[in-house]
Amino acid sequence: MKITVIGTGYVGLVTGTCFSEFGFDVTCVDKDKEKISLLRRGSIPIYEPGLQELVEKNIKEGSLKFTVDLKEALYQSDVIFIAVGTPSRRGDGHADLVYVFDVIDELAQQLSHEVVIVTKSTVPVGTGRKIYERLKKKAPNLCFYIASNPEFLREGAAIEDFMNPDRVIVGTESEKAKAVMDKLYAPLKNQGVKILNTSIETAELIKYAANGFLAMKISFINEISDLCEKCGANVEEVATGIGLDERIGRKFLNVGPGYGGSCFPKDTKALCYTAEQYGESLSLIDAVVKSNEIRKKSMGPRVEEILGSVQGKKIGVLGLTFKSNTDDMRDSVSLDILPYLEKKGAILQVYDPKGMDEAKKSLKNITLDWRFNTESVLDDADAVLILTEWECFGDLDFKKVKDLMKKPILIDFRNLYSLKDMERAGMSYYSLGRKNIII
Ligand code: NAD
Repeated sequence: MKITVIGTGYVGLVTGTCFSEFGFDVTCVDKDKEKISLLRRGSIPIYEPGLQELVEKNIKEGSLKFTVDLKEALYQSDVIFIAVGTPSRRGDGHADLVYVFDVIDELAQQLSHEVVIVTKSTVPVGTGRKIYERLKKKAPNLCFYIASNPEFLREGAAIEDFMNPDRVIVGTESEKAKAVMDKLYAPLKNQGVKILNTSIETAELIKYAANGFLAMKISFINEISDLCEKCGANVEEVATGIGLDERIGRKFLNVGPGYGGSCFPKDTKALCYTAEQYGESLSLIDAVVKSNEIRKKSMGPRVEEILGSVQGKKIGVLGLTFKSNTDDMRDSVSLDILPYLEKKGAILQVYDPKGMDEAKKSLKNITLDWRFNTESVLDDADAVLILTEWECFGDLDFKKVKDLMKKPILIDFRNLYSLKDMERAGMSYYSLGRKNIII
């Protein structure tokens, strides 16, 4: 079976590569010429553990190809995956479907053979229907079937998530599309992965409901964390205490500076907007969106409050990406905190293990002192601020840290250290939802 993947970003590239690893013949197409020329040379444009090796291997074996030419990519294709971006639309925050519909219009022009068209991009419920109607109108003689197959991979663990998912959701409305999807996911089904077959609308909504729920869990623990600080409780112990209840579970109860990334912020907003269109109000998700926005905005002032004024103070910043193991800067909390601190006169010495190139693009409007490793961030700093939970930042040698810094102050927005370790290290330590250690 021949697969075409349209859009070779995080999701398209991982999807295409993993399907080629399953033994299918895959062509990935993208409009971005630079991206495709990099990929053709076997280098990948994003940081994703394990992906480079898999891309190289499957290019070599001839099962994975890259092109900018849609016509070439569609040649003898049995199934097309749409994996283009669906960012928040300016103004109302709904999912912007312009890239998806552009693809449909291009397909209307280029396709002449029978094919199954699968939406992998996260799209609001009802989009599958719109795709069908649009293509039917523009190419009335084309024989095609649609399917919805939302993606749940996490950046940083994308290969593992694709190859060994908790479940695969497949929404179809025809025997033909279901048969093709069954064949594609047979390698996973044979490993015991649960494949849930639903209607197209249900599949579309499952994706948003999942992200809404996970975002709610994060905001929940963040709000409980604020209460812990006021009443003297310890949020890590609270998370463990509630997480041990199997009905709740410990995952996604890690306190932090607010969720970011390419999915939760835009998907929660789009979910509220969709509900509104159907005359429903998702007051819980509305509250999550507001809670997270307030939290992200509150983190800069929190640093200021800890340090008194930040004017003229050198602050070492460890981590810029929205989470560890990715170079993705989309909606990262650093985009809220750093401009705030810079405006207040802080001198910011920043470093991220994999996100420097992306961060330089996203933070180009403010003055930052770009450093090249952890030590150079700490050098002569009045305080150090951990923003991303990269493993290497959880393993600092505090004897060295204290030698390098002007003052031994650590502000940790990821709670990477235990209070006991920080007491032993002799650092002033400010984390979230726990008592402060002031020396
Ligand atoms: P991305 O921005 O990394 O990649 C999208 C790619 O599509 C870009 O390379 C762009 O050049 C290309 N593109 C746009 N229009 C095109 C066209 N007409 N023809 C060919 N290529 C085109 O996006 P992403 O992070 O991979 O996300 C894609 C979708 O998957 C989104 O709907 C997102 O919500 C969803 N999703 C993302 C993740 C994630 O972790 N990133 C996880 C699950 C679902």
